[in-house]
Amino acid sequence: MSRPDAQPIPSPHFRLPASPRPDLSIVVPVYEEAAVMPVLVERLGAVLNALSVSAEVILVDDGSGDETLAEIIKAQARDPRFKGLSLSRNFGHQIAISAGLAEARGSAVVVMDGDLQDPPEAIPSLWAKHREGFDVVYAVRASRPEGWPKRVAYAAFYRLLNQLVSISIPLDSGDFGLMSRRVVDLIVAMPERRRYVRGLRAWVGFRQVGVPIDRGNRYAGRPKFTLAKLIGLAIDGLIGFGEGPLRPVGGLGLAAVGLSLIGLIGALARGLVGWGFAAGWAWVAMGLVFFGGVQLISAAILGEYVGRILQEVNARPLYVARSRVGLEPADRGEDLSLNAWLIPDDSLRHAQPLP
Ligand code: UDP
Ligand code: MG
Repeated sequence: MSRPDAQPIPSPHFRLPASPRPDLSIVVPVYEEAAVMPVLVERLGAVLNALSVSAEVILVDDGSGDETLAEIIKAQARDPRFKGLSLSRNFGHQIAISAGLAEARGSAVVVMDGDLQDPPEAIPSLWAKHREGFDVVYAVRASRPEGWPKRVAYAAFYRLLNQLVSISIPLDSGDFGLMSRRVVDLIVAMPERRRYVRGLRAWVGFRQVGVPIDRGNRYAGRPKFTLAKLIGLAIDGLIGFGEGPLRPVGGLGLAAVGLSLIGLIGALARGLVGWGFAAGWAWVAMGLVFFGGVQLISAAILGEYVGRILQEVNARPLYVARSRVGLEPADRGEDLSLNAWLIPDDSLRHAQPLP
């Protein structure tokens, strides 16, 4: 594949001279957030100025169809601390975060949502805790503005998750938080395609601490997470961290088999002592439905695991980037493990400062 206009990708042996590491990188996935971008850029800029650390902000445009990328280019022109990576299509929140982590060069990296639900003003308290020696400082939601059905669903999910999986993922914490360089390096080096970043972050270990932070309201626009995407994320969290969910299903199956055996023996005994057999078809129908259900659940859970194995075996790149705004030219040596591809898009050439 040699397109005349494709950027040559240097071999891993050829390293570009690295510019000095900033103290802090902020990774923000943004999907169709053009309406929020100006305020986001302004509030983030103010917070970073006040914190007086060297910083970069990596805005990951997750294949937006609106003016999000144009806003990123504008922000970069005004303040070179703002940089952008634009993905070739919508890859989803968790992959956008992973792409940002692969690009982030800071000694510490903050991940936050782009809709201002994670307040930029909380970054100094994350940074202060990090300076006390913590590798991971995650925001624990002190309050949520969402209505009660969503709050109850979240609370139930996080408690179920901790019962079922083999690592303990902090309750009521999202992706908003700070990670040290070594934690980011480890997460970027993890090859899995289905990424549940807060789970990977908990898995890494070291010193981790939560700080209570109020979750604000979305600044503008509609939530980009559909119910289906939220359920998908929940399944990734449940399935991605061990065999936990298979066990209760196995238990249910065993219990069902045990019960049916007792019932069978009972029914036979009744017949033998001459009390007559219980009326048949209703029981048979109920039994069929019940065992059919157990089998479907088991098959579905197994299917989730098999699907994941297929995805890992395919080993497609995690994402494709179409343009880079203010980022150093791709040095494939840095995110080889994520196996990301950079295919520049002709229509966006102006966005790429060539080396
Ligand atoms: N987002 C993204 N890709 C997606 C969906 C969302 O990058 O496919 C971004 C979105 O722009 C926002 C963040 O992820 O910055 C959280 O999304 P949203 O506010 O819709 O989620 P919620 O707050 O409802 O969990
Ligand atoms: Mg939101």
